[in-house]
Amino acid sequence: MEFLRPATWDEALAAKAEHPTALPISGGTDVMVEMNFDVHRPPAILDLNRVTELTEWSNDGEVVRLGAAVPYSRIIDELSGPLPGLALAAHTVGSPQIRNRGGVGGNLGAASPAGDSHPALLAAGRDVLVEAASVRGTRLIPIDDFYVGVKRNCLEPDELIRAVRIPVADGPQQFSKIGTRNAMVIAVCAFGFALHPRTGTVGTGIGSAAPTPRRAVEAEEYLRDVLAGRGLWESGELLGAEVVQRFGELVKAAASPIDDVRGTADYRRHALAVMARRTLTWTWNDYRKQIRSAA
Ligand SMILES: Cc1cc2nc3c(=O)[nH]c(=O)nc-3n(C[C@H](O)[C@H](O)[C@H](O)COP(=O)(O)OP(=O)(O)OC[C@H]3O[C@@H](n4cnc5c(N)ncnc54)[C@H](O)[C@@H]3O)c2cc1C
Repeated sequence: MEFLRPATWDEALAAKAEHPTALPISGGTDVMVEMNFDVHRPPAILDLNRVTELTEWSNDGEVVRLGAAVPYSRIIDELSGPLPGLALAAHTVGSPQIRNRGGVGGNLGAASPAGDSHPALLAAGRDVLVEAASVRGTRLIPIDDFYVGVKRNCLEPDELIRAVRIPVADGPQQFSKIGTRNAMVIAVCAFGFALHPRTGTVGTGIGSAAPTPRRAVEAEEYLRDVLAGRGLWESGELLGAEVVQRFGELVKAAASPIDDVRGTADYRRHALAVMARRTLTWTWNDYRKQIRSAA
């Protein structure tokens, strides 16, 4: 097996162009497990660990450009203000060791429906863009187009993920995950939720309950219309039990889970409705506090 170790981003792109079947490795927390279990015997490994740009992030006040290899532990420590949903999701990933190595680029590369960053990225809005690059140039892939099948994304063989561009939160965000124990656990199912008062929209993300991470489109539209139609963004009044209940039902209906060792499809649907109701209630309570303290 060939081992490619570029020192710069340009060298990494050139190596990927020359060896499109080379498997990129960043934190290695997915790659090494799969190699140990003989899931992959790639002809070459492309080690990205010397490419320092991948471990950097920037924030222009509107958008965070998150380098593909910024580890989860730094997302928690450094970005919980602008990216609260993703930071909450990062908290639930693996153990401290995994959070020190693994990052969002690797989660997107693996594109597992159970990856914890995906529901948070979807909920952060339709403007979340995956920055994919090759020697041919850079393209910005909307997060909704990125996941194309079970553990499959839309990257071309010569492309690498450089960064993810995520709008700075303009309202409260939440992430909820169900596992068979409290830590070091792959999600039975997960749910990300965000209020976007600036655009009068809400964002959702369902994890581990469909072939790909996906949003609950009808639930988003229902809540957007209720919040606008009843003037709730301005008044900050309570949502009412029927709204919360209906939102949960629509999230549940958006899932298409399977039975597997971690849980049944029925349980996943039930749990999603519960998580949707809870995250909506938590974020709306936070939003009400915010507008009351601003008044
Ligand atoms: C014990 C354990 C617990 C875990 N718990 C969780 C959990 O709770 N939640 C969760 O979501 N995940 C979990 N994982 C999985 C893993 O930690 C995450 O998916 C992590 O985000 C992977 O990041 P990484 O940098 O280690 O990726 P790597 O293993 O380096 O790569 C993962 C995939 O992405 C590709 N890749 C990496 N970087 C790039 C790039 N820049 N461009 C293109 N492709 C790239 C690789 O080729 C590979 O296909 C766990 C893993 C272990 C071993």
